[in-house]
Amino acid sequence: MLFRFILIIVLIYIIGRLFRVVFGRRKHRYRGSNGEVVDEMVQDPSCNVYVPRRGSIRRVVHGKELFFCSNECAEKYISDSKDR
Ligand SMILES: [Zn+2]
Repeated sequence: MLFRFILIIVLIYIIGRLFRVVFGRRKHRYRGSNGEVVDEMVQDPSCNVYVPRRGSIRRVVHGKELFFCSNECAEKYISDSKDR
């Protein structure tokens, strides 16, 4: 009788952990341990990909502050805007 009781407790614990792993992942992606948003997402005007502001390449093009996912994208955008 005691063994069955322990088995049920362990089962509930395992299921609880599994639920936390499956549903908790998405929420923690851009959030710190204190629940605040860690980083702002900025759009790369060259390839239209969203990148975290802190990990992006910052460039000032024609007096406008722009953020790029990589150096290649920044160079490409700057050379493209020069041709126009
Ligand atoms: Zn890019």
